[in-house]
Amino acid sequence: MSSIADNIGSVTRRIQKATLQAGRKPDSVQLLAVSKTRSADELREAVLAGQRAFGENYLQEALDKIEALNDILDIEWHFIGPIQSNKTRQIANSFAWVHSVDRLKIARRLSEQRDPSLPPLNICLQVNVNEEESKSGCRLDELPQLIADISELPGIRLRGLMTIPDPSQSETDLRNSFHILATTLASLKAGHPDAGPLDTLSMGMSGDLELAIAEGATWVRVGTALFGARPVKS
Ligand SMILES: *Cc1c(COP(=O)(O)O)cnc(C)c1O
Repeated sequence: MSSIADNIGSVTRRIQKATLQAGRKPDSVQLLAVSKTRSADELREAVLAGQRAFGENYLQEALDKIEALNDILDIEWHFIGPIQSNKTRQIANSFAWVHSVDRLKIARRLSEQRDPSLPPLNICLQVNVNEEESKSGCRLDELPQLIADISELPGIRLRGLMTIPDPSQSETDLRNSFHILATTLASLKAGHPDAGPLDTLSMGMSGDLELAIAEGATWVRVGTALFGARPVKS
């Protein structure tokens, strides 16, 4: 079995190769290590291998790891899971980024509850590009209004868009989903120049990061390819 350090090396090489092939700058894509279900010790191993940004889906599990690793000062924590409105206070104050904001109510609460002594919380809006019934994420046509409303909120910094496309799609359809997210970000940026940096596309996972990078991903969220297959949740 390969070590987490080896896996970080090979994922980093995949990212570099895809970035080069897309004619993009080498430092334009960042690796978010998705560490749901992984132990604090496994994260520590990843930190020793140079990884600093970790993505978590479940709040209590994340808080336990944040506490267990609080001796490492430069970890950057990202929340990437579904958000219940009664959990926003802890999410607002324990993370540097939230990738999974999909409605105004959540954005408002995160902004209000973010400690004003902290820098504004970086957020991405999660978009359900394929309009799957079961998935969270807003629709593409809801974005202009959401962005106009969110740009007024002082506690958050609107960085861009995130998507989790239906993994059963063909490669062509997956790539098309990433392409739609990228063109949507570009047009929102043009239409809302003061809404925030809008410099981020959070898309691509273990199986499809090359396709996402070809379409402009700036964060790829990778779990399995770094830590191995996850135990099945019962
Ligand atoms: C689990 C998860 C990932 C990582 O998926 P892998 O296929 O294991 O790389 C990425 N993004 C989100 C939102 C996830 O929940």
